[in-house]
Amino acid sequence: MAMLVRRLRGAVGATDLQCIGTSATLAGPGTKAEQRQQVAALATKIFGTTITPSNVIGESLRRATDGEFDIAALTARLTQPVPTAWEQLHRDPLAVWVETKFGLAQDDEGKLARQSPRRLSTAVTELNQLTGVAEEICREQLRNLLLTGSKVRDPGGRPLFAFKLHQFIGKGDTVYTTLNPPASRYLTTQYQRSAPEEPLGRPLFPLAFCRECGQDFLVVNRDKGGEKFSPRPLNDTRGEQAEATGLLYLCDGDWPSATDPALLDRIPDDWVIVDGATRTFDKGRATRLPTAYRVDQFGTVVDEGDGLPVAFFERLDFCPSCKTSYESSQQSEFSRVSSLGTEGRASAVTVLTQSVVRTLRNQTDLDDDARKLLAFTDNRQDASLQSGHFNDFVLVGLVRSALYRAAQKQHERTPEEPLTDDDLGGAIFDALGGDLTHFARDPVTAHEAIAAKRIKSTLRDVLSYRVWADLKRGWRITMPNLEQTGQLRLTYFGLDGVAADETKWAGAAAPLSAAEPATRVELMHVL
Ligand SMILES: [Zn+2]
Repeated sequence: MAMLVRRLRGAVGATDLQCIGTSATLAGPGTKAEQRQQVAALATKIFGTTITPSNVIGESLRRATDGEFDIAALTARLTQPVPTAWEQLHRDPLAVWVETKFGLAQDDEGKLARQSPRRLSTAVTELNQLTGVAEEICREQLRNLLLTGSKVRDPGGRPLFAFKLHQFIGKGDTVYTTLNPPASRYLTTQYQRSAPEEPLGRPLFPLAFCRECGQDFLVVNRDKGGEKFSPRPLNDTRGEQAEATGLLYLCDGDWPSATDPALLDRIPDDWVIVDGATRTFDKGRATRLPTAYRVDQFGTVVDEGDGLPVAFFERLDFCPSCKTSYESSQQSEFSRVSSLGTEGRASAVTVLTQSVVRTLRNQTDLDDDARKLLAFTDNRQDASLQSGHFNDFVLVGLVRSALYRAAQKQHERTPEEPLTDDDLGGAIFDALGGDLTHFARDPVTAHEAIAAKRIKSTLRDVLSYRVWADLKRGWRITMPNLEQTGQLRLTYFGLDGVAADETKWAGAAAPLSAAEPATRVELMHVL
């Protein structure tokens, strides 16, 4: 802008160009006089001509209410309903108090200035302490007054109070716990180094949860010497004191040794070698087993028989609760376990946005053009990521709900005949509903016979593709598909017949050839 001003001045040969600038955010801290000085110095630099502090104009405010603050009148007013006409409301004792608390303050030159934002709850407490009227009544009265004040117009047509309400929504965090049995442990979502309860000094460990079943693990470092476990932030590399990072699983009893048959009930089935009636642990996976420890509530390793039995996983190669195997070395800790706050900000904003939009649609007392949601962010990548996320969420939601309804409808009509690949696209198309004009490139001709036929056929193909792409396990870790959540079952046509056909299985190896048809169906289904 500074260059533009200079070029303009040169181009028109102006010797006495008048520069006028506006800004809402230029002034820094300090007194009013200091602020004018700063703004003038900056404007001089930008415009290339001297701007004196006396030429800097701020805003001037005037009171909207009329009257002096009076405790007795205020206390009496809190038992009355709020006046709804401007004539009474702008002299209302509560309105006068609200304007001095929320609206106006005095600057160092004795002029009216904007009050810094305040919490509604703080104002409720203040009003309660001032008047002795119960907090609930104070809150209700304040709420009614602000709402009424935003609707009531003064003779000039302006609302008495135009207020903005901010609601802060914090990001989900981690759960922290002490090293105690689940029934008696201390849990909190507020980060602290140690638990505030007796005995003092017990460290708080972050909890991580199995992505498949939700089993909880304590996120730890094993300190040098192997005699103590200390807390570690999830997905963090080990600190200097640590000799290994990992997860602690709290056991009911001591974690079984590699030769103990009890181990077989805790590991994935394919880690067990079955030979006739005997089942043994696959020794090749010995390094994937956790190490058994006994620890006290401070994380120190103690002797057998004392403390709490735990199993220490340096890498969580399987979950002892759901027996899911996480053997792939590609997988990071993040893809095996998550903390309570892992599900990202984009998902949270999307869900909140959807909820706000849905609520707005039902707000009949708002004008149409007031029913909108604006979102702001401080960088472009964020904005594009968020809008992309929202579009994807809506798309996935529409396709999945249509698929679900199509499957349910089919089941109600003909329980014996599930949907097949052939009729899937059409069934989802019907369940999706909506008008052809929503999907057509040219909405005007969408309902003409030929166009309609083509649109329908294309839409059926696109829908089938979307459904299959979604049912393939993808990158949507936080949005598992309908099969993963157990709301939909996919199977193969003719599987029962193949499973029951003994001649086909006669040449197969031992467990398969002798298996029950039902077992074979289950196996083929999983594979
Ligand atoms: Zn699990």
